[in-house]
Amino acid sequence: MEELQKLKETILADYPRLNKESKFTFGCNKNVSCFNKCCSDVNIFLTPYDIIRLKNRLKISSQVFLDKYTLLPIDEKQNHPVVMLKMDNDENKSCPFVTEEGCSVYEDRPWSCRMFPLGVASPKETDENGDGEFYFLLEESVCRGFEEDTNWTIDKWMKGQKVAEYTEMGEHFKEISLHEYFKQKKQLEPAKLEMFYTVCYNIDKFREFVFQSTFFKRFKVDEEIVKKIKEDDKELLLFGFNWLRYCLFGDKTMELKK
Ligand code: SF4
Ligand code: SF4
Repeated sequence: MEELQKLKETILADYPRLNKESKFTFGCNKNVSCFNKCCSDVNIFLTPYDIIRLKNRLKISSQVFLDKYTLLPIDEKQNHPVVMLKMDNDENKSCPFVTEEGCSVYEDRPWSCRMFPLGVASPKETDENGDGEFYFLLEESVCRGFEEDTNWTIDKWMKGQKVAEYTEMGEHFKEISLHEYFKQKKQLEPAKLEMFYTVCYNIDKFREFVFQSTFFKRFKVDEEIVKKIKEDDKELLLFGFNWLRYCLFGDKTMELKK
């Protein structure tokens, strides 16, 4: 985590800040000499929506996915839990989903795999150049894609990688992860951290919590929403974000029954 923190500082201090119209030249296909090289020994943070897509792709529960494929790095600077994809124990520390043919979960690959070689960063509030999120290029030495000659804008790359749904869910997640509560450096107590982890990363357990408890006796929830969240993980996650805002921060996003 310390290494990643240093990289983040370097990105904020030194990397050119790009916007959606910025241009770059890059190509990635099966014929590049580095094919698959970026799928080993790599730090991939998983978003709540990444986990839903992957566990549904693999047809396993979120609990099994978490147990088998993730790590939970702990850093005292973190104000909430984060989840990383666990690399295999082989010589190369390969991603569990890489095959000779490429990514075996390609259509449901995580947000950061879609974005590569792009990253997104948010300046600190104290940053004098900081006026919102910016994009940057991760020019890793192993990646020969920058020697190819296909021209892109950031916008065109993101559309080609079908990132829009991930970005939309990411914006909802930010209402929790970048909440004013955390900006005031307040810490969540253990039971609330557990609830954060359950909603954001263990969606099947959250469904049990909602449907196998007195939840609907205590809170007003529209019938249509109950129907949707029973079956649809994405809808349940959006519902869960509202629940987290209520139970972690006291926002008025849920209504108690009389
Ligand atoms: S999920 Fe797919 S694209 Fe991402 S590192 Fe693993 S094999 Fe590569
Ligand atoms: S290292 Fe770069 S060019 Fe090579 S496969 Fe990965 S993304 Fe593509």
